Amino acid sequence: MIENFSIVTSSRTQFIDITSRVAEIVEKSNLEEGICWIFVPHTTAAVTINEGADPSVPRDILEHLDRMIPQQESYHHLEGNSPAHIKSFLTGSSQVIIIREGKLLLGTWQSIYLCEFDGPRHRQVMVKIG
Ligand code: ZN
Repeated sequence: MIENFSIVTSSRTQFIDITSRVAEIVEKSNLEEGICWIFVPHTTAAVTINEGADPSVPRDILEHLDRMIPQQESYHHLEGNSPAHIKSFLTGSSQVIIIREGKLLLGTWQSIYLCEFDGPRHRQVMVKIG
C-alpha cells in the first residue's frame, strides 16, 4: 500500500510534525508487523525523526543549519537556493520505521518531521506500508 499527502509550508525553513498523518496511514493499513517507508520527492525538503516534545529542539536544529550553511555565501547554482539543497542532502529524503502491534515503533520522544528548507511551498510526503 502506497499513500501520499500534501503539506503547504509557510516559512523559508520549518519543521512540520507529520507523525499523526503517518500514524493514520499505518492504522488504515491494518498491518500488525512490518515497515513504514517515508519518502519526500523534493531536492530542497527532507524528512527526519527527532524530539517532538520540546519545540526548541527543531528550532535549534534549523538555527544551527543556518549557521553551518549561510544563506549569504557565494554558491554556483544560479537558482539561488543552494543552502536548501545542501540542507536537504544532509538531512535526507527518506526514513524507515518499524511497525509493531499495528503502531509505529517510535521512541517516547520521537516525532517525524517534514523539513522545509526553501519554502513556502507545496510538498508531498509518500508513505509505503509493507
Ligand atoms: Zn535549486
